[in-house]
Amino acid sequence: MIYDAIIIGGGPSGAVSAFCLQQTGRKCLILEKKTHIAEKTCGGFLSSGGIKALQSIGLDVKELLDMGAVPIHKFIYTRNGEKQIHPYASREYGLGLTRHLLNNWLLDYAIKFGAEIQFNTWVKSIVHKDNLFQVNGYTSSNVIIASGANGANNFVNQDKHTILNKQSFGLSAQITGVTSLSTDNVYFYITGENGFDYFWIIPNGNNIWNIGIWFQKVPKDAVSQFWFYKEKIVGSLFSEIEFRRKLKGAYCGNYTLFKQTSSGCYAVGDAGGFNSFTTGAGLRAAITSAIDVSMEIHKNNN
Ligand SMILES: Cc1cc2nc3c(=O)[nH]c(=O)nc-3n(C[C@H](O)[C@H](O)[C@H](O)COP(=O)(O)OP(=O)(O)OC[C@H]3O[C@@H](n4cnc5c(N)ncnc54)[C@H](O)[C@@H]3O)c2cc1C
Repeated sequence: MIYDAIIIGGGPSGAVSAFCLQQTGRKCLILEKKTHIAEKTCGGFLSSGGIKALQSIGLDVKELLDMGAVPIHKFIYTRNGEKQIHPYASREYGLGLTRHLLNNWLLDYAIKFGAEIQFNTWVKSIVHKDNLFQVNGYTSSNVIIASGANGANNFVNQDKHTILNKQSFGLSAQITGVTSLSTDNVYFYITGENGFDYFWIIPNGNNIWNIGIWFQKVPKDAVSQFWFYKEKIVGSLFSEIEFRRKLKGAYCGNYTLFKQTSSGCYAVGDAGGFNSFTTGAGLRAAITSAIDVSMEIHKNNN
């Protein structure tokens, strides 16, 4: 069988690519290295731009609200002890949710529209011959690399450390606890002297709070900085704290890991360097780049 597209990675950019292509009658196979959809290191904030992008392809995020996601109406920034409140325009909102919920929901839609998925399948090379791609024994006319901020290291010939040095970096964990914070807001605390680095508290729904720290450039003491601000900020706002997901770090995908080498091979989401410099819109960029690439493949293969 020759698939119209093999999609490497079953995160948001991979799932949305598959969903869009299946809707236009293209047959897709997603190859995902993990054995199941796991929680990804992320703040779990889907911006209103991301919601609009999903609506533009017919996906209604109200279903996510029914499954425990929470609507976010305000950003609360604290810089040098001063608080600033930035509300969304009326009728606009973001979502706070676990990545497990979002990723599963998107993949379910891709599968419902006919996409196939193979878990436990780690792609390490792509062979392009006679206008067809061979990937882990499967054949397709197009390949979409949707393997995230780190995942394209398998397909590039550049030095991995040189590339990762250019990426921004974040650490996050999920907690439960008692707090008077409102799930209507996301909370950002500017921490770094560069004016960019920040600590966040983001409601992920179902009484889960995501806490984390983002660095423009990863410092040697990243982990101890996280614990310092966790004590200082979270410690003063929460009691009865329990960790639901332990602290993990991840690169942010603001740097392109992939250079297109042959026609029919595309990169979306973090693998394509579409994440914004300050991460908060990575999900929106994953969704919109997947929509754009799917439209391009559909057009080029008509
Ligand atoms: C700490 C942190 C906090 C963040 N917070 C936010 C936030 O609050 N809001 C927001 O919008 N964005 C946030 N982002 C960015 C957001 O997480 C990413 O932009 C988004 O996950 C990108 O989606 P993706 O589908 O491109 O990649 P991913 O979500 O990384 O998915 C890639 C998939 O590919 C699979 N894979 C990788 N390599 C291979 C391979 N070789 N073979 C097969 N499968 C492979 C992986 O297992 C994974 O399932 C944050 C990022 C970080 C690091």
